[in-house]
Amino acid sequence: MVKKLFEIDLTKRMEQQKHPGHNRWHPDIPAAFAVNPGEAFRMECQEWTDGQIGNNDSAEDIRTVNLNRVHVLSGPVHVNGAEPGDLLVVDILDIGTFLEHEWGFNGIFAKENGGSFLVDHYPEAAKSIWDFEGIFATSRHIPGIKFAGLIHPGIVGVAPSHEMLAEWNKREKELVDSNPNRVPPLANLPNPDQVVAGTLKGEAFDKVAKEGARTVPPRENGGNCDIKNLSKGSRIYFPVFVDGAKLSVGDLHFSQGDGEITFCGGIEIPGWIELKVDVIKGGAKTHSIQRNPAFQPGPVMPNYNEYLVFQGISVNELTGKQEYLDANTAYRNACLNAIEYMKTLGYTGEQAYMILSTAPVQGNIGGIVDIPNACCTLSLPKAIFDKDIIPKLDK
Ligand code: ZN
Repeated sequence: MVKKLFEIDLTKRMEQQKHPGHNRWHPDIPAAFAVNPGEAFRMECQEWTDGQIGNNDSAEDIRTVNLNRVHVLSGPVHVNGAEPGDLLVVDILDIGTFLEHEWGFNGIFAKENGGSFLVDHYPEAAKSIWDFEGIFATSRHIPGIKFAGLIHPGIVGVAPSHEMLAEWNKREKELVDSNPNRVPPLANLPNPDQVVAGTLKGEAFDKVAKEGARTVPPRENGGNCDIKNLSKGSRIYFPVFVDGAKLSVGDLHFSQGDGEITFCGGIEIPGWIELKVDVIKGGAKTHSIQRNPAFQPGPVMPNYNEYLVFQGISVNELTGKQEYLDANTAYRNACLNAIEYMKTLGYTGEQAYMILSTAPVQGNIGGIVDIPNACCTLSLPKAIFDKDIIPKLDK
């Protein structure tokens, strides 16, 4: 029996929970619990918006969601004996949904409030609700699709040091300053609105609210990596930057396509995750895992082996401009090509877009050296559709 460390009441907001979590990265956020190396424990997690999205047929809550609230995380957990320079080893033993919450959501964020990967093509908010039956997901908003989920945490990470946090805030501000009026913004800078910082109060809280890094991007501490294969059975190696490592987790997804392209996001759920931690003393240096985490995927994966694969190249689809080996543009074109194809199967563009963000689609880089075009691919599993989706020969 693993012990339950962090409990979530789905009717309460994060600061009202028995153990309030946090929604910024900052080394001063106090640990909620301490564990010993070798210990296993269960963390319950609220979904990333802290309960702002409803199980209904309107996208109004996606359009008006308060993104200063995200992501609400469970933790931090202090790992006894972990020090800067060590490697924190985190095993994801198991992960699941709550019995009283067998549904999740996906949404396309509006251009003015978050935006998404294909924002120039899909600027309006949209939402799909997904219902779970065991390991399978279906949506009343997207007929003819059913797939097995590969549940994973969108976010798992450790606290940055003060120096690292200052570096994050500096480099991200420089990026925003290069085009400060852009919609959506180039990055989300610290914002004191809606901050939750564990049990901190007074001046210590104000400092975190002012400096705390937003949880939106992945960084050196892991964080919002949204790696769909980082699921049950995976083992992650984190470089440790502060005493106790201060491990946090949240933003669980029932399933997600590579890239999480609608931004909101995979199939977003509250749920629970069982973790086990260990420490390799001085391991960041001896294994040279110092700049970013590394991981071993687990052995559990949906068995989809047949795909229809769409290519994309790095030519801007709006301007016709030749770009140089740009994988972002190439993957965007691969996604757009898949969406145009799915429209011939009867889906709207928005439905097809949400399929790519939720189903176990594979994104890959084909070539990244053949100047001037990168080639990226988007692989659509045939078996998630209730009909044959392959082009037919004329007879
Ligand atoms: Zn998410």
